[in-house]
Amino acid sequence: GRAMMCIRWLLTDLRLRLSNSSIILHAMVVSYVSMFALYNVNMNMQGSYVYDINGNKYLDSLAGLWCTALGGSEPRLVKAATDQLNKLPFYHSFWNRTTKPTLDLADDLLSMFTASKMGKAFFTNSGSEANDSHVKLVWYYNNALGRPNKKKFIARSKAYHGSTLISASLTGLPALHQKFDLPAPFVLHTDCPHYWRFHLPGETEEEFATRLAKNLEDLILKEGPETIAAFIAEPVMGAGGVIPPPKTYFDKVQAVVKKYDILFIVDEVITAFGRLGTMFGSDMYNIKPDLVTLAKALSSAYVPIGATLVSPEIAAVVDSQSNKLGSFAHGFTYSGHPVACAVAIEALKIYRERNIPDHVKQIAPRFQEGLKAFAGSPIVGEIRGVGLIIGTEFADNKSRDSPFPAEWGVGAIFGQECQKRGMLVRVAGDSIMMSPPLTMTAGEVEELVSIYGEAMKSTEMKVAELKSK
Ligand code: PMP
Repeated sequence: GRAMMCIRWLLTDLRLRLSNSSIILHAMVVSYVSMFALYNVNMNMQGSYVYDINGNKYLDSLAGLWCTALGGSEPRLVKAATDQLNKLPFYHSFWNRTTKPTLDLADDLLSMFTASKMGKAFFTNSGSEANDSHVKLVWYYNNALGRPNKKKFIARSKAYHGSTLISASLTGLPALHQKFDLPAPFVLHTDCPHYWRFHLPGETEEEFATRLAKNLEDLILKEGPETIAAFIAEPVMGAGGVIPPPKTYFDKVQAVVKKYDILFIVDEVITAFGRLGTMFGSDMYNIKPDLVTLAKALSSAYVPIGATLVSPEIAAVVDSQSNKLGSFAHGFTYSGHPVACAVAIEALKIYRERNIPDHVKQIAPRFQEGLKAFAGSPIVGEIRGVGLIIGTEFADNKSRDSPFPAEWGVGAIFGQECQKRGMLVRVAGDSIMMSPPLTMTAGEVEELVSIYGEAMKSTEMKVAELKSK
């Protein structure tokens, strides 16, 4: 086993070397790959920590990829999986057949999501597939309603919705578009709601939100409201750099979307199940979506699963039209996989029994304030977050208009300083992202804040050296 993992690690390393021009990204990816190779060998992922090839311990401040919400060693999830494997390891969910865990999970999700009423759930293997499925559901819905032109989607710059063709199109990050002939022509992008980066001089958060809603309305009018099917948004942008919405933003964009009979898709892949201190991000920002995207914490990432929830209205149209349009001919072999559903059911039980959103509410103030105490650092542009998700953006002279030279790799330096001290963070250019397990203890928050602070001081010194050269 160990030898095999090493060979795999080497091969992966080689492949990454060939395919990645960025040394920093390469180093980061390999550090994750090597760690998980070891985790497999040594069974060493404990609570909020992971262990590397040499047995070094790291606080996993990104919970894997924003996903191991219940930490790395929850025995109830392991038991749920093995029990289900022993009972019924697989059956599909086609042609009116399905399994009990699949039905039970759908019931659980429909009753747990209360921001607006949801009618049906559809299961996928990932968040990307869930967003692709939303696009097909919405197209089918508009075809069934006899509105064949209402097909365009509006997403936002810096959004992340996945990496399949359609979900990467919805994503608003150039790296996922360039080289791939994306986005697809039916996807339009509107403003990124990042106040610090994009507000005009003197503009308040509320005024910024008003301007963005106006821009959204202008885009809809320019394209023709009868051509716009849906708007998609993450409550807090994740991979785009952790960007919470400016005050009043969701009230204002929801009013616009509603005015033109456009569906609202909320992508809760990162924000669901307590991340922000509420069960869903929609609860936090009073979002009343027509469709909801779920994945990641749905199973605490122990097995792959994603889900789409759709409103009763959409469910009714899709069902009632089944004779005219034919069935909603869409689904994956593993849609509603019983093992994944059994694990997800157990995860949802834990979120409710342990009242994870409240636990987050209790520890989040120290997490947020502890890190935001460094907002005054001369190398920090902004530190922003809510609940247990936070982003740090480095900038020269604290100015959004003067990024550090990319070749200095300030974000990467910070990442290395954290790693040296026993903590993993996500680095993307000069943007640092953290989204730790929701189960972390107050003591672990202290450790995280302390390592962050030491890494910050060390990075400040290294930047000062670079500047003096
Ligand atoms: N939506 C959001 C908000 C995400 O953060 C992600 C993954 N980072 C996805 C969708 C895609 O999920 P997956 O990687 O499971 O396809």
